[in-house]
Amino acid sequence: MVTDVKQAVRTTACASCGAQVPIFSRSSIQAVCPFCRSTLVRTDMTWESIGEMAVLADDLSPFHLGLRGKYQKKDFTIIGRLQQKFGEGVWNEWLLQLGNSRTCWLGEGSGSFYLTVPSTSSESLPEFSSLSLGQQVLLDGKYYTVSNIENASCIATEGEIPFVATPGEFADFIDLVGEGGSFASLDYSDDLPKLYTGKTISLDELEFESRNGTPLQKKVTEALRCSGCGNAVSLRNPASLLVACSSCGVANNVSASGKLVTAYSQTTAKLQLHIPLGSTGVLQGHSYEVIGVLRLSGGGDIWDEYLLYNPSEGVRWLVCSQGHWTFVRPATTPSLVTTKISYNSRIYKHFADYRTIVVSVLGEFYWQVKRGDIVDYSDYICPPYIISREKSKKEIVWSQGTYLEGAQVAAAFNVMEARRKGNGINQPSPAILGYITAFLLSMVVVILADMLVLPKNQTITFNHLEMNKNANASELVSEPFVLKASHSFFKVYANTNLQNQWVSLEYRLTNQETGETRVMNREVSYYSGYDSDGSWSEGSRGDSALLSNVTAGTYVLEVNGETDANVRPDVNVSIKAIHGESSSNFWLAFFVLALGPVAAGLNKYFFEKRRWDNSDHPWSDS
Ligand SMILES: [Zn+2]
Ligand SMILES: [Zn+2]
Repeated sequence: MVTDVKQAVRTTACASCGAQVPIFSRSSIQAVCPFCRSTLVRTDMTWESIGEMAVLADDLSPFHLGLRGKYQKKDFTIIGRLQQKFGEGVWNEWLLQLGNSRTCWLGEGSGSFYLTVPSTSSESLPEFSSLSLGQQVLLDGKYYTVSNIENASCIATEGEIPFVATPGEFADFIDLVGEGGSFASLDYSDDLPKLYTGKTISLDELEFESRNGTPLQKKVTEALRCSGCGNAVSLRNPASLLVACSSCGVANNVSASGKLVTAYSQTTAKLQLHIPLGSTGVLQGHSYEVIGVLRLSGGGDIWDEYLLYNPSEGVRWLVCSQGHWTFVRPATTPSLVTTKISYNSRIYKHFADYRTIVVSVLGEFYWQVKRGDIVDYSDYICPPYIISREKSKKEIVWSQGTYLEGAQVAAAFNVMEARRKGNGINQPSPAILGYITAFLLSMVVVILADMLVLPKNQTITFNHLEMNKNANASELVSEPFVLKASHSFFKVYANTNLQNQWVSLEYRLTNQETGETRVMNREVSYYSGYDSDGSWSEGSRGDSALLSNVTAGTYVLEVNGETDANVRPDVNVSIKAIHGESSSNFWLAFFVLALGPVAAGLNKYFFEKRRWDNSDHPWSDS
């Protein structure tokens, strides 16, 4: 309670009890006497009492009147609160006084926090009835998307606020979200709509001053007991509005006074959970406790969503679908480009739209989730990332998730690793780059080995042999030639002009130094013609003969050729030899080594195909 009269701009005597009521802001119109709870309203000259203020709902808010802190290095004090009742819970607007004159609103609801200030728009503000969820609205030069449509009533106020709020009065409100966490709200409680703009903030950004040690602990008024079985229930998240008892399954609404009231009964005995409720684990550097689990069904699948909570980080989700895990955090509204969205400089492709239904509820939730609740999802992926849009009757919520390996989740929460089935929506596809790199490196080695290690082949060309009708045999003795290195083969090629003829060739390769002679005999023939089946041919005009392991040295090659005595036309045989190594296995190596990347590429292709065949855009359609 703000009782520090010295800080107040002025004080006014309560019209009801006469006590000095501090007024901190010059723009305040309504104040509630902290002593007798009279509602004081400022008239031209004085503050008049208009009767007793209604009682605030005990919503376990971490804030209270008089709480001080720093925001962007400026001191602030909470000087007022407007508490409103929405369909599914309580929403507080805390009035923060920054310095001596400025004020802003800290909105608190569903575990999220918003800082806003009254704003004007050069565009005329839209009529309430003209707005629908998801609609884009231009406000003060910026585009916002309608994220929430509410009809809310004022429960009560405390401290001072810059307008008159009447408990029990209903009004329409529109929440809008813009890019980069920007936030706007339209208030239709008066004839003319009022615009507030600001941004979503985290509790860390408001450096609250410690008062009595821990000012931000939730106020526990009494032990909570399950309305179904009477077992003690502890709420981890002060913003929780529903808790489903793990003993009897009864789902309890957390009433404004902090009592548990039966919302519905359900059987959760058969709910086999991979991570038990209450488990804690460290993910992405923060410790989270599993405080709730939703089992959902949709699109032919059933999956579990674990609600995680960390007092300073807020809520996160860990989704387990067919053994594939995704760690999910709230996201700001991304920019939508037809079937793609851009978010934090990544492009996500539309994957699927599907409808989900809540099958079972266990633990605590920051909204009054019911079995049978229907939410329409749109998933966009950029593996390992995913962005989901959840649209319920009243709200559009965006979230961003990251694929986690099963082993990582198992280690974090000390549980068994879940068995994976099929491909996860945002599961990264198999790596291929490593295979390609390995292939390219291996090929470089093969090419270098070819170039550097294997010596060049040596080619020797000899004279021709000629045979004609006068001489059906011919002999060729080469000039001595030097084979410079010892090689694995010496191969003699004969190229002839045979036509319906044969020639026999005898090769004699003599090493001039050792006198050793190696001999090969070959018969070459070629016949062709026409018959009733068309043209035919037999044999070949070319021939090759191989000697293996021929050492370096000076050699002479003799070739003796002989053909048919009635040779016609003349036979001409040209001779050449190649001394060298068996051709390297370059292409063999190429194909063998390419198997790795090709297999990896096919694997990746079929992985992506299986993934997308489960989407709204299957590859098999195109
Ligand atoms: Zn009073
Ligand atoms: Zn119970």
